[in-house]
Amino acid sequence: MRSFIVILLGLIFIYSCKDQDQNASVEKPIAKTETTVKEEFAIVIHGGAGTILKKNMTTEKEQAYKAVLEEAIRTGYDILKNGGSSLDAVTKTINVMEDSPLFNAGKGAVFTNSETNELDASIMDGATLNAGASAGTTNVKNPIDLAKAIMDNSPHVMMAGKGAETFAAEQGLEIVDPEYFFTENRFKSLKRIKDSEKVELDHDGKQAFYDPEIKDYKFGTVGCAALDKNGNLAAGTSTGGMTNKRWGRIGDAPIIGAGTYANNATCAVSSTGWGEFFIRAMVAHDISALMEYKGMSLADAARTVIHDKVGGLGGDGGIVAVDHNGNMVFEFNTEGMYRASMNASGELTIKIYKE
Ligand code: ASP
Repeated sequence: MRSFIVILLGLIFIYSCKDQDQNASVEKPIAKTETTVKEEFAIVIHGGAGTILKKNMTTEKEQAYKAVLEEAIRTGYDILKNGGSSLDAVTKTINVMEDSPLFNAGKGAVFTNSETNELDASIMDGATLNAGASAGTTNVKNPIDLAKAIMDNSPHVMMAGKGAETFAAEQGLEIVDPEYFFTENRFKSLKRIKDSEKVELDHDGKQAFYDPEIKDYKFGTVGCAALDKNGNLAAGTSTGGMTNKRWGRIGDAPIIGAGTYANNATCAVSSTGWGEFFIRAMVAHDISALMEYKGMSLADAARTVIHDKVGGLGGDGGIVAVDHNGNMVFEFNTEGMYRASMNASGELTIKIYKE
């Protein structure tokens, strides 16, 4: 009898262990958050990361950048405050930066090697995981609107070149003469790079992207991530890419998972930086995945991906992101990143340099 009881207890013990194991394998880590306060809504933007040093800036230039960043973020903030959607806030906020010649998106897009402007953009809805992206367009005034139209009104996620432009016209989006994208500054930058390329091509056969005057390879992509009052996250990114790009080169900005990602269960992210590295590191999705599968906080996930992963590959750049509780993060491994954030109480932060 005693041995029967011992065997019975043994079987109950083994069974309960197995049961716990099964539970452990289906248990999903809950994404940690940095604060205990849940923001009702939040918005965060960037205007590009790079070698942005105070010593290379004038006060007027600094003020000019800050003014557009503030106008852009207040546009999105007002939409969110009035109960608008994060998708609408992201689109309208990015429109303000696309219309400014200061940023490498829309009006201020950089030049390709053939002296044209080819623009990329993407947007993602964290509630449905729907997404839209356009690449290499030359006459669509606001590429983020095209990305949104692709998401909303087509069966596709991504369109490129002529086809994307035809779709934009059919959708009634504003089409401009490609000349609209001409800016003196960006053109001079291309010329400087081409001059240095002559030397580099002779030297090691490599294509040059480095502008000796602005001391960088790229500058000024724009992006936005937002949480609305309904708990919906969205992110979007818009860019002219890299100066002197060739052969229809497409960067990370229109690649869902690299330049843009949003998921209501985790966070919304927009990237800026050396696109080739951001594509290889799948930056935006990787941050979300670390939260979802490893239970990391947004801040830890962003730090890991930007410094360990992108930095480890030899790339540079940064992200802005907001999680499902409204915690906002700026993370970059460059000297600076044009950036701003606003929480539900209207507290505004605008920064340019590393701190
Ligand atoms: N990520 C952009 C690209 O590689 C450039 C940038 O963010 O400045 O096209």
